[in-house]
Amino acid sequence: MTGESVLKNDTAPEIYDVIIIGGGPAGLSAAIYSSRAGLSTLVIDKSPNAGALGSAHKIENYPGMATPVSGSELLSLFRKQAESFGTSIIKEQVIGVNFESDPKEIFTNQDTFRAKAVIIATGSMGRNPSLPGEEKFRGRGVSYCATCDAPFYKHREVAAAGELPEIIEEINQIAKFAKRVFIISRSKNLTREQEEIVTRHPHVELKLGCSVKEIRGSENVTALLTADPSGAPEEIPVDGIFIYLRGNQPVVDFLYGAVDMTDGCIMLNDHGMSTSVKGVFAVGDVTCKKIRQVVVAASEGCIAALSAEQYINQRERVRSQWSTGKA
Ligand SMILES: Cc1cc2nc3c(=O)[nH]c(=O)nc-3n(C[C@H](O)[C@H](O)[C@H](O)COP(=O)(O)OP(=O)(O)OC[C@H]3O[C@@H](n4cnc5c(N)ncnc54)[C@H](O)[C@@H]3O)c2cc1C
Repeated sequence: MTGESVLKNDTAPEIYDVIIIGGGPAGLSAAIYSSRAGLSTLVIDKSPNAGALGSAHKIENYPGMATPVSGSELLSLFRKQAESFGTSIIKEQVIGVNFESDPKEIFTNQDTFRAKAVIIATGSMGRNPSLPGEEKFRGRGVSYCATCDAPFYKHREVAAAGELPEIIEEINQIAKFAKRVFIISRSKNLTREQEEIVTRHPHVELKLGCSVKEIRGSENVTALLTADPSGAPEEIPVDGIFIYLRGNQPVVDFLYGAVDMTDGCIMLNDHGMSTSVKGVFAVGDVTCKKIRQVVVAASEGCIAALSAEQYINQRERVRSQWSTGKA
């Protein structure tokens, strides 16, 4: 990451206009708009590989990408674009904040940074791969998001494993493409509502009271080793598995309740991605939302940066960043 060297050098401002915590698509999109608006902008990012986009194998639904790109390629384009407008990026983990002070303070292991406005963009990546084979086949048959990856399984066989409510939430999306879907869950019964949804798809097969013991394959996933309610093993041939196990939580540990949250995600006010603290905004997967996608994260970054500019310059309205080119 090019910005590793900017840590408190002579040219670094004492007080930044905007500090963005997290360098995923939400944070970097905010950085593009913030630095392009002429605000001194610092992105503090733990690691480009630690976020959701950094770990996405293939992205083919981000507008403008005519051919699929890896998440890390897309991320590096975002970074270059932000830096081209003057954003500084450092590779550090934020471990605490003080939003009561003016300017606001951000603490890392190495330093304290100060800013007039802060944008929180730390994403939602809590759960470590826990199933045998899960880490090995991430992006090669192991997926966590039907909106992202279900189209890759058109006319193929897949499993959706884990918590039933989460599986049912996504099953329509998976069943629309796959020719056969196995629902594998330790839960033993479906609610009436869940049953109604599942019976709409005759090619969905229930394996209730069952669990996945291992994800198998060579280059890509080819099968799952499962255990039935009595513990008896069964190998199920599949091309992929969607995993819905609890643990993927918004990354908010370093905030220690500094902004209002509900169910572990950051609550937003009606206006401009603002949080319960004036001058503090939140964007992307760390906020409470149903749809977690790169394009959503990027659009929220834009809104937050323009809101931060409005807050810093005490404008009545957000200033847009386009013109007709005419004087
Ligand atoms: C495997 C996978 C495949 C996906 N496929 C698609 C797809 O095909 N299409 C699509 O649109 N979406 C896809 N998504 C979803 C998409 O990647 C996310 O919605 C998007 O990346 C969210 O952006 P974000 O900036 O909020 O968070 P992230 O991308 O998670 O970025 C958060 C950043 O914050 C940093 N960070 C975290 N904590 C700290 C800290 N304390 N201090 C400093 N930095 C910190 C991390 O290092 C990371 O760089 C996929 C997600 C996954 C996991």
